[in-house]
Amino acid sequence: MHRIAAFFLLVSATAIAQPPQLSPEVQRYVKVQAPTVALTHVRVIDGTGKPAVEDQTILIQNGKIASIGQAAPPADAKVLDLHGYTVMPGIVGMHNHLYYIARPNLEPGKSPGWEPPLAVPQMMFSSPRMYLAAGVTTMRTTGSIEPYADLNLRDQIDRGLLPGPHIDVTAPYLEGKSDLFIQMHQLQSADEAKQFVDYWISVGATSFKAYMDITRAELKAAIDEAHAHGLKITGHLCSVTYPEAVELGIDDLEHGFFVNTQLDPGKKPDACSESEGNETLKSMDPNGPEAAKLIQLLVSHHVAVTSTLPVFEGYVAGHEPLQSRMLDAMTTEARDAYLYVRNRAYEKPFPDGPILLAHDMALERKFAAAGGLLLAGPDPTGDGGVLPGFGDQREIELLVEAGFSPVNAIRIATLNGAIFEGKEKTIGSIEPGKNADLVVMKGDPSQRITDIENTEIVFKDGVGYDSARLLQSVAGRYGEY
Ligand SMILES: [Zn+2]
Repeated sequence: MHRIAAFFLLVSATAIAQPPQLSPEVQRYVKVQAPTVALTHVRVIDGTGKPAVEDQTILIQNGKIASIGQAAPPADAKVLDLHGYTVMPGIVGMHNHLYYIARPNLEPGKSPGWEPPLAVPQMMFSSPRMYLAAGVTTMRTTGSIEPYADLNLRDQIDRGLLPGPHIDVTAPYLEGKSDLFIQMHQLQSADEAKQFVDYWISVGATSFKAYMDITRAELKAAIDEAHAHGLKITGHLCSVTYPEAVELGIDDLEHGFFVNTQLDPGKKPDACSESEGNETLKSMDPNGPEAAKLIQLLVSHHVAVTSTLPVFEGYVAGHEPLQSRMLDAMTTEARDAYLYVRNRAYEKPFPDGPILLAHDMALERKFAAAGGLLLAGPDPTGDGGVLPGFGDQREIELLVEAGFSPVNAIRIATLNGAIFEGKEKTIGSIEPGKNADLVVMKGDPSQRITDIENTEIVFKDGVGYDSARLLQSVAGRYGEY
């Protein structure tokens, strides 16, 4: 009896320490798996913003980072000689949706070329694979369309049944009265907002997002209820201005400074303005007093800001790179619809595009310089060219274009996200004791940030996944499932 009890104790302790058994379907994408792995002669960008360090050995043991330095690897280690490669922490993607956009192209050449309703089909198969392939090891969904699918996906990934990152599942959007997205619930009252938050916590959601037509009373009720359960809430706002949301206690604001409506002409309380924030951003001089006051308010209330630059670079025709790896991932229909929208941007350029992008980039830099916690995410889908994973890499490139050094841009996309998620003790940087969530890429992104696109192996909890194989499995399928 005694012996059996001891045996069970041992078994359960081991079960907790070990990562889950990976299913044969997941094993297919595994390139490196061993109790001890040594990455030798590799350049390390540790995620804290410190300069890259050359010729290091990272020792991974039982899914954790055991050491970083120059010691020779133990004899039993599986050694990967990574001359010419760089390792950075796994990306913590903070605006990483699991859906795409359906845009039937009915009459090419005629505006708008597609008809309502606006629908966003769920990409259960392709999105998690594309995120992981690009180096995303933890992500927040930042608004759910098929919440039960998202919750089950999170659980099945964590049980080793499906490939993908760790997921912070955001509940369905907290939206007010609006007919824009046919898949969203429309809240009727503050009481209902509270019930909504309670329900989604009860079934496993771990974060919240308010949307463009929520009222201040509904937002306040949602914030208070989420906080009462120790959870955080962000917003893609319009009806509520940034200063109003800060005073109500919001934790994070999506889309940089693009969707603040505080200076929008004709803005009425609790109602989204026509310009949806463009006029505020256009008139807000990044070096002026309004900007300084707003940044001071955000920083003093510890409100994070999520930069989603890939979804806005489409404001400037030709700014968004047209990459074969993107087009290869998409279905023919998705590719056609995207190219059509992309080409139209050349024919009818958005006149305010360049100034909006420049103002936002400058404000994001000032916010971070003032001590604000800047987060990063791609926000698939925008004009259709922002894809899971590729978009996370593009966001880092655009942060560099905004003026951040490459290692600081990487910090924003790794450690800062981990800090916001309350997980900085286990993920977000390359330090002994943390989970071995590591991205291996050819080249040196501390010198050429686009080398981040050369990702070959992504370690999640010490298991190295093959980026190319993951991408091969989705080729031609993104847009369908
Ligand atoms: Zn979004």
